[in-house]
Amino acid sequence: MALTIETIISLCKRRGFIFQSSEIYGGLASTYDYGPLGAVLKRNIKDAWWRAMVDERDDIEGLDASILMHPRVWEASGHVENFNDPLVDCKACRKRFRADRIWVVSLIGPDGEDWGEVGPIEAGSAPDAVEAAIHKEYKKKGAPEGLQTNPRTVAEVPQSKHTRCPECGGELTESREFNMMFRTTLGAVEETGLSVYLRPETAQGIFANFDNVLTSMRRKLPFGIAQIGKSFRNEVTTKSFIFRTLEFEQMELEYFVMPGEDMDMYDYWRNQRFNWYKRYGMNPDNLRLRDHERSELAHYAKGCCDVEYKFPFGWSELEGIANRTDFDLKQHAKFSGKRLEYYDQPNDRHVVPYVIEPSAGVDRSLLAFLCNAYEEEQLENGPRVVMRFHPDLAPLKAAVFPLLRNRPELVEKGKALAADLRKSFPARYDDTAAIGKLYRRQDEIGTPLGITVDVESLEDQCVTVRHRDTMVQDRVPMERLAEFCTDKLNLMRQEFTR
Ligand code: ATP
Repeated sequence: MALTIETIISLCKRRGFIFQSSEIYGGLASTYDYGPLGAVLKRNIKDAWWRAMVDERDDIEGLDASILMHPRVWEASGHVENFNDPLVDCKACRKRFRADRIWVVSLIGPDGEDWGEVGPIEAGSAPDAVEAAIHKEYKKKGAPEGLQTNPRTVAEVPQSKHTRCPECGGELTESREFNMMFRTTLGAVEETGLSVYLRPETAQGIFANFDNVLTSMRRKLPFGIAQIGKSFRNEVTTKSFIFRTLEFEQMELEYFVMPGEDMDMYDYWRNQRFNWYKRYGMNPDNLRLRDHERSELAHYAKGCCDVEYKFPFGWSELEGIANRTDFDLKQHAKFSGKRLEYYDQPNDRHVVPYVIEPSAGVDRSLLAFLCNAYEEEQLENGPRVVMRFHPDLAPLKAAVFPLLRNRPELVEKGKALAADLRKSFPARYDDTAAIGKLYRRQDEIGTPLGITVDVESLEDQCVTVRHRDTMVQDRVPMERLAEFCTDKLNLMRQEFTR
């Protein structure tokens, strides 16, 4: 059966990955809290990115810039003027929608005959999502197959009997531009305070520090600056779980190159970033690179593509990779009055570097890694849900159980073994249920190794290690357990990379 997002949401809540924010107060739309296992999974994803982007290379520096920045930053970047969503409100139910996400579709027959319109349909912007939603509506209308469709958004066709509220059919207001940056006030007195924004992306903190990093680290082109941090966008969203939230984390790299070398580097980063998801076990069948059409490109961009994942709700963006030319550094030089250039010594000239930007979302990656890992299997003794996480991403690496929880010697041994394993990697002791249930619980959170202490262990000083994916069991001497598990995890890592 096809995986649904509801299945993932329910597992996340049941197993302590993700909770609705402020749930005891009825929740706050589009905000989520990461529970005990979600917090670790998230940290593991960020560590995996940092490892690949900073630790394993010698051409990239890390940065941790502040969320609040001088308001001029956002004038220079274009966010004050252009970071807008077109919004419409329903006059009846008062719900708010993005005008560019509500579609009205004209249907045209093979001889050009008019089959009327269908809509309003609420769908994302990905072409396949729109296509799928249209198809559903079109069947409802009893229209024959093979009609041509002309989908347009409410923002493009404001006047139609179909430009109604997708939820209640009420009349919609005209579309208005709405800036997506959260604004707050700096200083003790509201009236005289300075208006500042919560950053809508981490990238501008990198551009503003370009010269600081270049000078302090004595860098030569090409080099990059990488940063992971929170960003905030006042998004109007529905039903997308952690795919689109008001507060989210980004993992962004700005890679500075000589003009002229930019397109080669753009191609290089496209491949690097695509391969990063594969390295951590993402099924390539559910992963694709989609180049933007010319019309989708920002005026300053020379190239842009998205890494997309096939979520249960359709293909959607995980990460954008763009050749942003020298636009950002030039804008900040203009607005700050500072020179943001690189001195090219061999040629005795100053140049404004071009920049390649791979910009990924932590939360979206996490959702994709959850969907990717999920598997349901039919075993002889019933079904099992198993999360096949890459061992580096799995929140726990091993769990230790006593076969009989009413035998103090087994409990004591189990606890001691878990404490010893924790010196090498995150491991848990658990005796809160019968053994079968304990295994199922660990399978559902993707723990690679399950270790059982049984009565025989007291005699032969060995324990049973069961492998999450193959369910193969090995009998291992306790004194070699940590070493054995480390080797197994390494082997698993190699298998994922293959
Ligand atoms: P979308 O078109 O889906 O809104 P975007 O193209 O505006 O995304 P970018 O500005 O390119 O996104 O941001 C880079 C990355 O940051 C995205 O690929 C995504 O992973 C993440 N991201 C952006 N907005 C959100 C959000 N509201 N919630 C979660 N992640 C986000």
